[in-house]
Order: sequence, then C-alpha cells, then structure tokens
Amino acid sequence: MGPFCGGFYSPDFRETMLKVELHAHTSEDPNDRIPHTAFQLVDRASELGFHALAITLHDKQLDSPDLAAYARDRGLLLIPGIERSIGGRHVLLINFPASAERVQTFQEIAALKQQCDGLVIAPHPFFPFKTCLREWMDRHPDLFDAVEFNHLYTRAVDFNRAALRWARKHGKTVVGNSDVHRLAQLGQTYTCVDAEPEVKSICRAIRDGRVQIETAPLSLCRAGLFVGQVFLSGWRRREPDPAPPCTAAPDRLF
Ligand SMILES: [Zn+2]
Ligand SMILES: [Zn+2]
Repeated sequence: MGPFCGGFYSPDFRETMLKVELHAHTSEDPNDRIPHTAFQLVDRASELGFHALAITLHDKQLDSPDLAAYARDRGLLLIPGIERSIGGRHVLLINFPASAERVQTFQEIAALKQQCDGLVIAPHPFFPFKTCLREWMDRHPDLFDAVEFNHLYTRAVDFNRAALRWARKHGKTVVGNSDVHRLAQLGQTYTCVDAEPEVKSICRAIRDGRVQIETAPLSLCRAGLFVGQVFLSGWRRREPDPAPPCTAAPDRLF
C-alpha cells in the first residue's frame, strides 16, 4: 500500500497524521442489509489502527452515546455522518446536525451548511450507477468540500479517474473511502488527515486539503467479490424508507 495524492509526502509526516474512514455502513442502515453491527465495525476499525470513523447510514444519522463511549474506550473518534439521497443521488454529509436526515434538495444542504461546520463530500461520484452524482457535480460545484476516491477499483478499471480530474479542476480535496458494506473492505483505501483528534479539527483539515490518501487497487477477484456483496446488500433491501420521498422537481434540487 503506498501514498497517493499530494506532493508533500514523507514517512515522518505520515506518522503524525490521523487514520480516518469517512464512509461506512452497518446493520443499523435503513436501506441496505449489512451483516456487521456498528459495534463490530468499531472493533475492526480499532484493530486496524484507525483514529476516526464516520458511520454514514443511508438517510439516517446514527446517534448513540453508548457507541461513542465504546469507540472512545478503543481510541476511536466517531464523527457524525449520513449518506443522504437527494433526488436519488448520494451525498455524504459529515458533522451535520440530525436535521440532515430531512434535507430534500441541494439548496437545503447549502442552507444547513451555513449553520454548522459540516463537510459535503461527493461519494463514488462518477461510478456508473444511478445513485451517483455524475453530471450533477457541475450544477453546484461550490457545495462540495471534497470528492471521494472510492476503494472499489482495479488497475484496469477505475471510475475514480473522472473524480480526480473534477477535483483538480475545481480545487477540491480528495479523500479515500471504502464505502464499507463488509468488514473486509475496511483499511484498503483510507485518508490520512493532518489534524488534532477532534471532529472540528479533522473537518477543517479536510476542507483545507491537509490530507493524503493511502490506497492500493483491488485484485480482480476481490473487486468482483465486493461488487457482488454491495449489490446483494441493495437487492435484499429492507422495507421502504419511512422518510417521505423527494418530491422536488429535478431543477429545484440545486
Ligand atoms: Zn452511495
Ligand atoms: Zn455508501
């Protein structure tokens, strides 16, 4: 596994940075069926030496003081997070208040962002799935603080390349995430953040670009396995989301 992105890498500098994952699902997810609980994810992240973790369930922000204390006892900082669907497209909202569960449009995200120190991250933005932002990225580029470099790629097939181009063009930070649906996904791609181990400091460092990605391509076998598992999670969906569907017209989402 090697360093990626940024021209200031040095092994000594890397030692002082926080190991962070900003995109992970658990069995508490209201949409996808995930085999591991949030406590099991915390255990695994702790074993792998992570310092901070955002659990980003679909359309639900997990708020558990017991879980936060459990993580803290294991040296892991939990960062509030949610993967919200806006018009069916996924957006990661990091360190937003619980009301982020109810935002329906990008305008509402922008308004909420004025009231908090939250980060807006574009997850898997140019993957060929209907939940990916793709052309919507250009409608409101200022809204995004960072773009995800997703762990799901091989040497031959890499949908992150378009994300890197977009981030470079717009001067955005790139963060490495694993979009964890299975524990085995955690740790292959993640972000090293030059920050103090507290939420605001981590968010500020990401916004300022003081990050480095650690990543390595998956083998074809592992990539195929993970794709199958992620799709299986989606196909075996739970009952429909109790939240009201987004009724805004597409041009009003921005
Ligand atoms: Zn997603
Ligand atoms: Zn996700």
